[in-house]
Amino acid sequence: MKIGYGHPVAIQTMTSEKTHDLGAMIKQILTVKDSGCDLIRISIPDEASALALPKIRAALEAEGINMPLVADIHFSPEMAFLAIENGADKVRINPGNFKDHARLKDLIALAKKTGTAMRIGVNAGSLERDLLEKHGHPTPEALAESALRWVKFVEDEGFENFCASIKSENALVNTEANRIFASQSDVPLHIGVTHAGTLLPGTVKNTIGISTLLQQGIGDTVRVSLTAPIAEEVQVCKYILKALGLYAHGTDIISCPTCARCEIDLPALVAEVEKAVAHIKKPIRISVLGCAVNGPGEARESDFGIAGGKGCGALYYRGEVYKARVSEDQLVSEFVKLIEEKAQ
Ligand code: SF4
Repeated sequence: MKIGYGHPVAIQTMTSEKTHDLGAMIKQILTVKDSGCDLIRISIPDEASALALPKIRAALEAEGINMPLVADIHFSPEMAFLAIENGADKVRINPGNFKDHARLKDLIALAKKTGTAMRIGVNAGSLERDLLEKHGHPTPEALAESALRWVKFVEDEGFENFCASIKSENALVNTEANRIFASQSDVPLHIGVTHAGTLLPGTVKNTIGISTLLQQGIGDTVRVSLTAPIAEEVQVCKYILKALGLYAHGTDIISCPTCARCEIDLPALVAEVEKAVAHIKKPIRISVLGCAVNGPGEARESDFGIAGGKGCGALYYRGEVYKARVSEDQLVSEFVKLIEEKAQ
């Protein structure tokens, strides 16, 4: 797959199971099969994890999954070599962990030879000493300068198959550092908000951090990081991209919060519709509103719509009334039938 330089923003997630536990890994990755996830990142903390990569790939291929595998390397640079030797499609490294620059050059040479991509990840926690002295703290300027410095290092080795990332626990610092970097480099950027928390607060933080950058045209691969199942990470990421008009697959469901005018069980109705159309890959807009005040207006802007009435609802197709009155117990089945029939 291709990242950056005008290609669609790629969605990635990261496994949380022990990498050497093949059964658990495959089970977890299967939860994002056909979900829109483009890349799977796997941590490689030790030799057993690196050696597990070919087995993971073979098991995934047997399940019909061909997502690129990204090996996430932290403290031990040698694991990056092992990961490449064991078939990783990409390695994510923190160049600050390579005390020996000659070894980093060896790794780049190996990646060049094997066609392996790299992510150069700069982190506020491991900023170079001279930049800390110059800027006083891991400021946005310091982080961007570090990333630009490492980009030059990699490019000087004649290597182009890489992206960069800049991470700080402080979302504002993070955003500004990425902005400064992007104003001085065309190198694709992986973006995300680290340690964002559980599903609800984490979704809010991720949405703010990621969408602020994407709206400025910054960011080529994205990971929403949450203390939640990885399928939720992918879902949230897709919703962010969809809201920004950067993800043209699947349904976009508009529903209202309901109020005293609503005389049908709208939450149950929306949940059923959402489930029934989850498999549709075609980009279609569906509105499900509780009453005739706003329902017809939203339906006019949608491909398919429901406007609720008293114990019933009207169905719309491309802004026109398709059936004026369908009883509440038949609404979902009639609506889904209409969608399946027309959204071919
Ligand atoms: Fe209330 Fe109707 Fe608006 Fe839903 S669409 S919130 S039911 S006024």
